[in-house]
Amino acid sequence: MKRIYLDHNATTPLHPEVLEAMLPYYKEAFGNPSTIYSFGQETRKATDEARETVANLIGASPEEIIFTSGGTEADNLALKGVTAALEKKGKHIVASSIEHHAVLSTLKYLEKRGYKVSFLPVDEHGWLDPGEVEEAITSQTVLISVMHANNEVGTIEPISEIGEIAQKAGIYLHTDAVQTIGKIKVNVDDLKVDLLSLSAHKFYGPKGVGALYVRKGTRIYPLLHGGYQERRRRAGTENVAGIVGLGKAAEIAPKEMVQQSRRESNLRDRLEKMIRENINHCQLNGHPTQRLPNTLNISFEFIEGESLILNLDLKGIAASTGSACTSGSLESSHVLMAMGVAPEIAQGSIRFSLGRDNRKEDIDYTVENLVEIVTRLREMSPLFAGRKK
Ligand SMILES: *Cc1c(COP(=O)(O)O)cnc(C)c1O
Repeated sequence: MKRIYLDHNATTPLHPEVLEAMLPYYKEAFGNPSTIYSFGQETRKATDEARETVANLIGASPEEIIFTSGGTEADNLALKGVTAALEKKGKHIVASSIEHHAVLSTLKYLEKRGYKVSFLPVDEHGWLDPGEVEEAITSQTVLISVMHANNEVGTIEPISEIGEIAQKAGIYLHTDAVQTIGKIKVNVDDLKVDLLSLSAHKFYGPKGVGALYVRKGTRIYPLLHGGYQERRRRAGTENVAGIVGLGKAAEIAPKEMVQQSRRESNLRDRLEKMIRENINHCQLNGHPTQRLPNTLNISFEFIEGESLILNLDLKGIAASTGSACTSGSLESSHVLMAMGVAPEIAQGSIRFSLGRDNRKEDIDYTVENLVEIVTRLREMSPLFAGRKK
C-alpha cells in the first residue's frame, strides 16, 4: 500500500545525510566532550562545529546558542529562565493566544506561580496585530512571547514589528521559531528577538534535540543545574550525536530552502485548488498569503476531522487534525477558537503539511481519496442530511 506522509509540521523524517553525520557519534566517537583527552576533544570539536552552524543559520554567534532536548525545553527555558532572572523587575508576560502548548502550558504554570499573563487575541486569519502588543505592555512586563509561525494554520506573525515595540519598551522578546526554520528566512537581528526556540526534528534532524538562542547580555537562569555544560546554562552531558544531527540539518536547510519552499507551496496550492474544485462546503483556516509555504489547514463542514484522518490513514495517507491533541478529546483547537472559527467548523478541520519527499502524484492520490471519503462521511452525516432538506 502507498504511504504518503503529509504531516511535516508534526515531525519530519531524518535527512539521509543527517543520519550519516550522526552515526560515528553512536560508534567510535563516544567521548564525553567535557574531558580533556582526545576522545573528548573529538566530540567537543563536533559540538562546537554544530553550534557554529546553528548560529550561522539564524544570524547569531555560537556563544548565544544553548542546546536543549528540543523545542519544548527551549520554550520552557526561555519563559521560566527569563522570568526567574527578572523576578524583581515585574511579573507580567505578554503572549499570543495561539502559542504552541510548550509555551501556553508553561505560561499557565507561571500564572499559578503568581505571574499575570495577557493572552492577546488574533484576527480571523490567526494574525496578531503588533498594536495589541504595544497596548498590553505595562510597567510590570518582563517578557513578550509570540511564535514566528503557527504550527496548526501556518500563519506567519509580524515578529520584527513586535520586536521594534519590545526594543523601544526595553522588554525581552522571545519567539518560538520551531515551524519557520528551514521554511522561511529566520534571522535574529531582522526579527529583533532576544530569545528564539528551534527544534531539529521539525527540519529533518533527529528528535530530542533543539536549541534556544539567547542574545548576548540577556538575563536568564538555567532550568537544569549540575555540571558546567552550555556555559553553565544547561547542565548535563551533551547529546552529542543529536547535536551533530542538528548541526547537519542546520547546514542543509539554507541550501535547500528556497527551492523546496517554492516546490512545496506549488504542491500545497495544487492540493487546495483541487480540493476546492472537487469538494464543496470547505473553508481555509489561516492567512491566505502570510502563511508557511507547506501548510494547508482546511475545514470540511458536516464531518469530524478525526474520522477524516482515520479514513485517510486507511489509504496510507498521514495528515492530522489541527493540533496533535489527545485523541478522544472533543475539545476544539485553541488556535481555531482564537481565530473565531465556529466550533462545528473547527471540528471538521484537518491540516496537511508538506515536505521535501512529497510529489505531485501524492497530492493527486490524496485528493482522489479525500473526495471519496468526504462524500461517504457526509452521506452518513445527519447534519449534512438536515442541511439538504
Ligand atoms: C513541535 C513544536 C514544538 C515542540 O518541539 P519539540 O522538539 O517536539 O519539543 C514547539 N513549538 C512549536 C511551534 C512546534 O511546532
